[in-house]
Amino acid sequence: MKKMFTIAIDGPAGSGKSSTAKRVARKLGYLFIDTGAMYRAVTLLAIRTGNLENKQELLRLLSGSKIVLKPGKDGNIVFLNDEDITNAIRTEEINLNVSAISSIPEVRTELVRMQQEMGKAGGVVMEGRDIGSVVFPEADLKFFFTANVDERARRRLADLKESGSDISFEEVRKSIIRRDGLDSGREISPLNKTDDSIEIDTTSLTLEQQCDYIVDLVRKKEHTDE
Ligand code: C5P
Repeated sequence: MKKMFTIAIDGPAGSGKSSTAKRVARKLGYLFIDTGAMYRAVTLLAIRTGNLENKQELLRLLSGSKIVLKPGKDGNIVFLNDEDITNAIRTEEINLNVSAISSIPEVRTELVRMQQEMGKAGGVVMEGRDIGSVVFPEADLKFFFTANVDERARRRLADLKESGSDISFEEVRKSIIRRDGLDSGREISPLNKTDDSIEIDTTSLTLEQQCDYIVDLVRKKEHTDE
């Protein structure tokens, strides 16, 4: 039987990890898990209940909530207490608040536990900020995506425009730089490249090239691990 690997892809916003992970998972018949969507779901919960500043109340609500990711045609469909929040978590308001929520240690402990449970059977491409370092330090293949900030802002702007936003390039660029700083500078599980990750600068690569590179490595590993 073919070995089913655990593949970790980490990197900053707009580095291409989500689109790549999605496509690689489809090509390999693996499960795709977008862990950022889970931090976004908790942020939505905090905003809706007015608990962005009230950590204790947010944690209480979180322990009684259900966050579920289901495989969809274009990535994960995200549910919060059975409500489909897939689109609701992609707003600029969520972008502005998600780093603060994801720096709460208890939130991370809970979401990491869920992610480990979801990926424990292998055959998974999981993307985020701490997959190779914390969630699956023993992952079979680890990638760290980077890209220059203008390119990342261009990609994010295109996503936001598609969902009807009229935000400017400069605003997106600023928001990305701010989020990079918060995600890389936080005390717990900061975004950083582990020594055993393969770094891919996607600035001038196509999605196809990124995917082919990873799928080829997986195929090679399937043979060498036989
Ligand atoms: O990947 P995405 O941009 O959707 O992630 C949203 C936010 O969730 C990140 O800016 C980061 O603050 C947080 N995150 C995290 N750890 C992960 C995935 C995302 O802290 N594994």
